[in-house]
Amino acid sequence: APAPGYRGRFAPSPTGDLHLGSLLAAFGSWLLARHAGGRWLVRIEDLDPPREVAGAAERQLRALAAFGLRSDEPVVRQSGRDALYRRALERLLDEGRAFHCHCSRTDLAAAGGVHRRCVARAPRPDPAVRLRVEDGSLVAFDDAVQGRHGQDVARAVGDFVLRRADGYWAYQLAVVVDDAAQGITDVVRGADLLDSTPRQILLQRALGLPAPRYAHLPLVLGADGRKLSKSEAALALDPQRPEPALREAWRRLGQDPAALAGAAGVDALLARARAAFDPARIPAGVAAPAPAIAD
Ligand code: GLU
Repeated sequence: APAPGYRGRFAPSPTGDLHLGSLLAAFGSWLLARHAGGRWLVRIEDLDPPREVAGAAERQLRALAAFGLRSDEPVVRQSGRDALYRRALERLLDEGRAFHCHCSRTDLAAAGGVHRRCVARAPRPDPAVRLRVEDGSLVAFDDAVQGRHGQDVARAVGDFVLRRADGYWAYQLAVVVDDAAQGITDVVRGADLLDSTPRQILLQRALGLPAPRYAHLPLVLGADGRKLSKSEAALALDPQRPEPALREAWRRLGQDPAALAGAAGVDALLARARAAFDPARIPAGVAAPAPAIAD
């Protein structure tokens, strides 16, 4: 049944070119939005200049356009939304839910990487800001694809960073603020982010924001069935030949390849895909990797 007011999004970080994993998230989130009669937005998550590649955001947007996936609203860039993140952070600091942390990497490593209390021996000029995670902060949610997923956030990650010591915003804060500011009802993304979701739910609660529904799509694995290597992951899709990659993403979303048979051109293919898409077929785990993208 159409979900009134459905708003989905695809939120790439411009750290490289679009690859099959990102196309799966883009296409999957687009299909679910269209299936619900909703809107689909693109947000560029350009918050981490040291990891960004010059021109990558423009190439990602051009590639999406070549794949027929266009944002229903103007593309939002996180780099221009400092004031929103600052407001959220100040609120958390004022309410004592966030704190300045002077721990160094070495301090943290000694604590097993999970921050429970500050052990810094000397203040730093550039403290990070962390969310205070109380003991027993168990967060569970029902993922539309992965089923019920829970995490003891205090034990698994501890107090987590909202603003980094280098001054940049942490992904966790920005994604929560933006999903709420853009009225996103459904977060659809790769299963590599499943373990970030409990932190994001804690932050939504701390900020008094509504919780979206979640669907984490199967991971794209390498030909050997293991996590994609850096070089495999970096293999860019060819926007000149969008159809084979769309068909491959469609298959990995558990959909019937026959539904797209004979569709010529991206628009025809997407029209067929919209009509035939069945969310119940999306596999939770990993769709069997195909040898290579071929016509
Ligand atoms: N920007 C994140 C990434 O590219 C994804 C954020 C999200 O979908 O929540 O990995």
